[in-house]
Amino acid sequence: MAKVPELFGCMVFNDQTMQERLPKSTYKALKKTIQDGAPLDLSVANVVASAMKDWAIEKGCTHYTHWFQPMTGVTAEKHDSFITPNGDGQIIMEFSGKELIKGEPDASSFPSGGIRATFEARGYTTWDPTSYAFAKDGTLYIPTAFCSYTGEVLDKKTPLLRSMERISTEAVKVLNLIGKTEVTRVTTTVGPEQEYFLIDKEMYDQREDLIYTGRTLFGAKAPKGQELDDHYFGAIKTRVAAFMRDLDEELWKLGILAKTKHNEVAPSQHELAPIFTTANIATDHNELTMEVMKKVAEKHGLVCLLHEKPFAGINGSGKHNNWSISTNTGENLLDPGKEPENNTQFLLFLAAIVKAVHEYQDLLRITVASAGNDHRLGANEAPPAIISMYLGDDLGALVESIINGTEYTSKGKVRMQTGVDVLADFKKDTSDRNRTSPFAFTGNKFEFRALGSALNIACPNYMLNTMVAEELSQFYDELKDASDLDAAVKALIKKTFTEHQAIIFNGDNYADEWVVEAEKRGLLNLKSLPDAVAHFIDKKNIDLFVKNKICSEEEIRARYEIELESYSKQINIEALTMIDMAKKNILPAVSSYVRELTDTALAKKALSDAIPTTVEEELITSLSNKLVCFSKKTSELEDAVIKAAEFDGNNLAQATFFRETVFAVMQELRAVGDSMETETSSEYWPYPSYGEMLFGV
Ligand code: ADP
Ligand code: MG
Repeated sequence: MAKVPELFGCMVFNDQTMQERLPKSTYKALKKTIQDGAPLDLSVANVVASAMKDWAIEKGCTHYTHWFQPMTGVTAEKHDSFITPNGDGQIIMEFSGKELIKGEPDASSFPSGGIRATFEARGYTTWDPTSYAFAKDGTLYIPTAFCSYTGEVLDKKTPLLRSMERISTEAVKVLNLIGKTEVTRVTTTVGPEQEYFLIDKEMYDQREDLIYTGRTLFGAKAPKGQELDDHYFGAIKTRVAAFMRDLDEELWKLGILAKTKHNEVAPSQHELAPIFTTANIATDHNELTMEVMKKVAEKHGLVCLLHEKPFAGINGSGKHNNWSISTNTGENLLDPGKEPENNTQFLLFLAAIVKAVHEYQDLLRITVASAGNDHRLGANEAPPAIISMYLGDDLGALVESIINGTEYTSKGKVRMQTGVDVLADFKKDTSDRNRTSPFAFTGNKFEFRALGSALNIACPNYMLNTMVAEELSQFYDELKDASDLDAAVKALIKKTFTEHQAIIFNGDNYADEWVVEAEKRGLLNLKSLPDAVAHFIDKKNIDLFVKNKICSEEEIRARYEIELESYSKQINIEALTMIDMAKKNILPAVSSYVRELTDTALAKKALSDAIPTTVEEELITSLSNKLVCFSKKTSELEDAVIKAAEFDGNNLAQATFFRETVFAVMQELRAVGDSMETETSSEYWPYPSYGEMLFGV
């Protein structure tokens, strides 16, 4: 491996490369666009494009692509080569500013939620200069935003970029008002921690459920699961370590700040965390990370599973979205400093976030809703479906004292004495961790923990940015004409904490009492995607997006339809896969095994009546009964899938039916199947077992 500092970002057309390769005036103009959002001129784009192309060719590229993030949840790319005929049968390699700025993929085959008909196929991708272009597999990748001919937003990135602008504008207004006049821009920063599973490719290839749906639809528990807690932070196995090393190297080349790696709670489960960066780049990088994980795994004969719940009865995978706001003067607005009680600026921003999370708890829930994540939220491993926030003991006590108007005494940082001379004493954090909270304050940032592992983080972040921008704009309006600003700010902080304290919860989010208590507080408990997404089009939510110019009402309604539709489609695929597995493999396998048992019993009887055949007979009876039930449940599932089609045209009713009926039958079918697996000889069972998959690497 080359030295890491040289390797890092070697495939990225980053700031350093731009400085080296662009004329000074071009570099300056581009930088102005990146930093201040100034519009970019075609003449500048032409110079940038040409330099990018020369650089890309040196990196082995022959093609370029506008890389975008449509509503499918995965990235999209179409590759064009640089070749241009020069008239004498030869070609030259060309790339113009126009090609850099604008692309025209056919928009008709991407989900649009009814905004676009197939006949109006035109869609545009537009270069996003705030995220660096990079070279990968012989192609120059240009990060872009995607919209339709008539300007409707068709992707996840545009709302994110708009929301970053919004929160910047509103935060700057508030900061300037309270005296921070030197701040001209504010950026949201994000560090997403990514969980994943690695299993052996040979086993994966034998499981159509994993291939088609990303999760196991059948599978009895292995004798050992995660109960010993011996995998979490455990020593990393050689094969996994080799994968991780390769992965780091590939990510570093792409300028991704891969920092931390470790084993997770479940067997075969791991985590990777990068160092945080701007929300926009973090989103692009997280999409790339997931893609590179899958590719590198394949090189090692492994498969990387990013589904939220690949294995029943074992922890699923999530993503922790660490989020903060910082100024162009280098200040983290969520850093409470040494004396948070005297830090009104911090308390004002904290109040805005508390109010935002309380008023838009449904949006935060919606943004993490997916068919896969439905398996996690509410189970004992992920935060519950109820959105609340954790401030920790110290900050919690401070907020309480503000509400009650009582004196606050900070405990401050406490010296931790290890009691062992060779170990240095160190300063303890003022608050312990609360791993059960969906939205936890962790020192100088909030950690939104309810995200599913496969989610594109653009959505949670554009929602967060937008709702906080909205609150800041309300704060500004309330404060701007105050005669005594200091008193007005303090009063506003107190009023906000008082009115929105219901969203703050520092206890155990897994406890049953919390469900009861949360209901008393009027908090929402939206258990599944259809329950949650139904609120997407509530008036207050549409107003939020329209007022802040993130999306139009039509676009929100389109997103609502897409979410519901894709949920139904996913469960439909799962149901069809189950039916296929049941009829073509499991039923015949168990039936063959029963025949072998019967043959054995008959052969024994033929030899002598004295030889006991009770074992065979008991198994034959048990499995035959289960087979009847299994076959009945399979037919029920077939009927349910047919019935679901009757809801075509009403996405909410259809998604609800899939959740309440189809999914319920799937669970029942699975229970019978898994119970047959425990009684069937592994020679006959058609699929690798949980034990083999989870402990096979
Ligand atoms: P943990 O204790 O949860 O491991 P870390 O400090 O290691 O916390 O950070 C976890 C993630 O949070 C990392 O990706 C890190 O880069 C990110 N992070 C740290 N500070 C910020 C910040 N100001 N804004 C956004 N993300 C941050
Ligand atoms: Mg974390």
